[in-house]
Formats: sequence, C-alpha cells, structure tokens
Amino acid sequence: MATLSTTLPTTGHTPAIIVPGKPDTLSISYQQLNSHVLTFQKNLAHLGIAPQAAVSIALPNSYEFVVAFLAASWQRAIAAPLNPAYKQEEFEFYIDDLSSAVTLVPRGSFYQDGPAVRAARKYKAAVAECYWNGHEVVLEIKDSGKLSGKEGQEVQKAQPDDIALVLHTSGTTGRPKAVPLTHRNLTRTMKNVQTTYKLTSNDRTLLVMPLFHVHGLLAGLLASLFSGGSVIVPSRFSASEFWDNFITYKANWYTAVPTIHQILLRNPPPSNMPEIRFIRSCSSPLSPKTFSELERAFNAPVLEAYAMTEGAHQMTSNPLPPAKRYPGSVGIGQGVEVKILNAFGSEVPQGGEAEICIRGENVTKGYLNNPEANKTSFTQDGFFRTGDQGKQDEDGYVIITGRIKELINKGGEKISPVELDNVVSQNPSVAEAVCFAIADEMYGQDIGLAVVVKDGEETTPEELRKWIAAKVAKFKVPKQIFLTDNMPKTPTGKVQRRMVAEAMLKQQK
Ligand code: ATP
Ligand code: MG
Repeated sequence: MATLSTTLPTTGHTPAIIVPGKPDTLSISYQQLNSHVLTFQKNLAHLGIAPQAAVSIALPNSYEFVVAFLAASWQRAIAAPLNPAYKQEEFEFYIDDLSSAVTLVPRGSFYQDGPAVRAARKYKAAVAECYWNGHEVVLEIKDSGKLSGKEGQEVQKAQPDDIALVLHTSGTTGRPKAVPLTHRNLTRTMKNVQTTYKLTSNDRTLLVMPLFHVHGLLAGLLASLFSGGSVIVPSRFSASEFWDNFITYKANWYTAVPTIHQILLRNPPPSNMPEIRFIRSCSSPLSPKTFSELERAFNAPVLEAYAMTEGAHQMTSNPLPPAKRYPGSVGIGQGVEVKILNAFGSEVPQGGEAEICIRGENVTKGYLNNPEANKTSFTQDGFFRTGDQGKQDEDGYVIITGRIKELINKGGEKISPVELDNVVSQNPSVAEAVCFAIADEMYGQDIGLAVVVKDGEETTPEELRKWIAAKVAKFKVPKQIFLTDNMPKTPTGKVQRRMVAEAMLKQQK
C-alpha cells in the first residue's frame, strides 16, 4: 500500500535533510525526520483539520516546509504549497480556490500582517506559524479562523487514493488549473524517478528548484527521500552559493530548469570541478547548445526529462549511460506509457508528429472544478492529452516540437517556435532566443523573435535575420526581431511566449 507515510524510510545511515547555514548547518536523520513529522501531524490533528481539507503552505524551501508537507499528507489533509513571494491577490485566488482550512506561514509573518496572512483572514482560513526551535518544527496557531478545533482530532492514516497534494499548473498557456494528485500518483512518480536515475541512499542532491512546484517537490525532494538519499535544502537558488554548497555537502547530482543551468555555466566552480554523477534538466526545452556546453563544462551526462503537473512531474527521461541519450530528445517513457495521437485519438505512424499522450499510475484523475477541461483531456482508453506536440524516433525517444497552443500558424503553415529557438541559439552572439506569434494582416500570424545578446557581443536585427535566413526556409525567418536585456519568465523559470510577445510589443512602443 503506497502512501507518503509508508514509503518514507524510517532509518538510514545518511542524513535525510541538510539545511546549509552559517554558523550552524542543520542535519536531520531519517529517524528524526519521521519523529518530527509525526509530532507535526498530531498538532495538525489537534487543530481539527478535517480529512481532505486543504492546508496551504506558504513557506520557502526549508526544513519546516518538508515537515509540514509530509505531515499534512500523512494526516489525510491536502497539502497545497504556494509560492511565498505571491502578492495578496494571488494568495486570495489559491486560498479561496481550495477553501483552505489553514495557511502555514514563517515565524513573524502574523505580526507583520503579510500578504498570505491578509488573504487567509479574508477567507477565514486559520493562520499558523511554523518554525524550527532546535528540537522540532513548531506549529503555532495565530488565528483559528473557521476551524472549530472539534473536528477530526484523531491521527489519521492516509489511503493510496486520498489526495495528498494540489498544485496549479504554471499558467503558461492560460489560467492555472488545479491538479489533485493522490498518494498513489506521487509514490508512482517517486519510484519512476528513482528507477530512471538508479537513486540510492548514497546519492545526495542539492535542491535548487522551489518546492511549490512538482519539479522541486517530486524529482528533487520526494524521489530522494524515497531512495533513502540526502537532500540539501538552501532557502533558494543562489549562483554564488551553489558550488560552495555542492562541494561542502558532497552533492552528486541536481535537477533544474535550463535557465538555472545557463546561470551555472556563467558561474562555474571556483576551483576543482566536483564529481557529478548526472545532471537532470526538465520543465522547459533545453537547447542542444546548452546541452553540449553543460556536458563539456561539468563533465557529467545531461539527462533531459519531460514532466508536467498533471503527471505528478516526470513522464519521460533520457536514461543513464551507457544507454543512448541525445540533445533535443526528452528520452523514453519511464514507468509511463507514451503514444503520439492525432486529433481523432488514433496513433500516427512512427516518426509522425501529433499530440503526446500519456498513461500511467502517476497521472491525475482530472482537474478540480473543471469539467470542460476534463472532458477533452482524456482519450477513451485513459490516455491524457498533454497539449504538447511531438514525435518518437525508432527507439521510442520522444522529441517535443512545441505546445499545440503555441504553434505559429503562418497562413496555414505550422511553425514550431521551439525548433526555431534552437536554430537562433546557435548564433555565437545569442545568449537566449524566444520565438512567438505576432498578428499579421496577410498571414494571420507571423513570427516574432526576442533575443538576449551575450555579454560583450554585439549584433543587430538585420545581421541576425541574414544569419537565420541562411539556416532555415524563407517562411521561417522571423518578421520582427527584438533585442532585449530582460526575457520575461514565470517564477519557475519558464518562458511564457505570450508574455514575451506582450513585453516586446510594448518595448517597441
Ligand atoms: P499551463 O498548463 O497552465 O499552461 P504549464 O503547462 O507550463 O502551464 P506545467 O505543468 O508546470 O504547467 O508544465 C508542463 C509543461 O512544461 C509541459 O506540458 C511541456 O509543455 C513543458 N515541458 C516540460 N518539460 C519539458 C521539456 N523537457 N522540454 C520542453 N517542454 C517541457
Ligand atoms: Mg500544461
């Protein structure tokens, strides 16, 4: 019976969690972690959180987050991590959307009357501060909101089909959708990630992704805990501290979005390169150029994976060597079935391009309060339609060619912005390239391109256009090219093409 409580190791020879700190680093064993989670779980029970009520967790990456998250799920509540940097309105949206019973905030937030606290008050959610007191993670109730304190005071035992987590999609293509994930969904991904990278108790990962998204939570934290390894948890990603932490705490792998890999390439280790078993890249397309730069600079295999909130994160990944891996491919289904289906739900011949569809125990049963999306998101035989377009090579390796919603439709000619980004990124003066659709009188849509020029390099839109014209067919040459210092991104480092388009058109005015 797989739940988050039954799969957490209870003993181990390595620390479960390490929180770097000066002067004191916190190092927590598996025994301690289990006992702290149990105490926190009992305290949640005393508050009277009903089974399957939402516990909003507005905490930064921290030991408190880890304990609060696990305890909420063990207690059959629904953990709902929220970006602690949200503004009040954003907190209001999420707290209201899930009718949160309680919102967990860092120590001092109540007195400061921060945005999460004000939002919780508006919807009568209780507010509790969480902090480490040197012995345990304290749950200090500050406002009991609508909690009566009488309901469900017993310690509960979670079941595999209980919802353990609700996260919203990143909102890249529209309004964020609420995705419920059960213990079964999460533990399946944990196992899939462990199997893919052969994680053991000897592995140590430095967590750089936020825990309020599936990437950091599942591939960074939970898969490691499931494997009995160690997770180093700084409060946030910092390029200047990355290598120091990596070396000091003997990490041997990390997972991140391409933006972070690029930042690390610009900030290599000051002295000796540590030994890295593998580097995982996920959540956004990794350009072949960054792939090879990374492999060369950090002397480690780069394994690109493909994930989404609805799949409890990972769906496919490139395997460890000696198996084949290659830039531009997100690898093979890892404990997940993959099919490329056309609009009518039939499989296209191998090599054909259509919608990537997936099936597996990791996939959500459907969005919350969104019957419209649920009706169109699943095929009759239970495959989930990802909204991503792609194809498979003869060995089943998936190549993503773009999001169906983001394909540029130039007079009926469908252009994949991802492919074009990759071409432009090869230009020696280009640090980053993002293509998007712009309105066009003649074709309906045409191609816009935003470019960040590398430090110390110079180029012009005319030069770039000429260079691109020598590489791709004429209809793929961007109509408008914008140079910018600042490529807009979502909080998780994703490129939102819509947002880039808006920013560039505004910049032009
Ligand atoms: P929304 O669904 O609200 O529009 P979103 O799809 O960005 O937002 P997430 O669930 O965070 O929300 O992201 C999943 C998506 O990220 C995938 O559907 C895919 O488009 C993209 N993605 C993930 N990994 C990769 C990858 N390795 N290469 C290219 N795209 C990727
Ligand atoms: Mg999506």
